[in-house]
Amino acid sequence: MLDIVKYPSPVLRKKSSDVDIVGDDERCLFGDMLKTMQMSRGLGIAAPQVGINKKMVIVQVADNKLLKMVNPRILEAKGQERMEEGCLSIPNLYVNVRRSKWVKVQYVDENGKKQTLEAKGLLARAILHEIDHLNGKLIADYLNPIIKFFVLRKTKQREGTTNGKRII
Ligand SMILES: [Zn+2]
Repeated sequence: MLDIVKYPSPVLRKKSSDVDIVGDDERCLFGDMLKTMQMSRGLGIAAPQVGINKKMVIVQVADNKLLKMVNPRILEAKGQERMEEGCLSIPNLYVNVRRSKWVKVQYVDENGKKQTLEAKGLLARAILHEIDHLNGKLIADYLNPIIKFFVLRKTKQREGTTNGKRII
């Protein structure tokens, strides 16, 4: 299991780079990311959250199949929906984030094959949350700036349980 990078690490703010070739290093990193995500009870994890600024994310939501995505890119999005989310990198912060209800996403799988996927609801939300990480964006950025200032000031004391909430 790898350590989860927590706010305010600059790694979380950097834009991740494209992966040109999916090889053994990437498959090995996916394995470590998956273990880390499962141990932390997350629904998803992005490579910057384990300190690596590469466009790689894992998403596993309920009964949907485990997705290991390289260079994910949203092709189409529809609808809007608000839902409370948490993030492994900012413990104990829950933000009501408005996101698309439905997305069509293109990515490369762990075998280097190009894939297209349509997702809705929580799965779409988890994918969008992880893509935000690749762009250096965090759930706190969806708060109004004044609230964000006060909330993030307290982040150093933010350790603790997930209370059964959604951590993406
Ligand atoms: Zn997150």
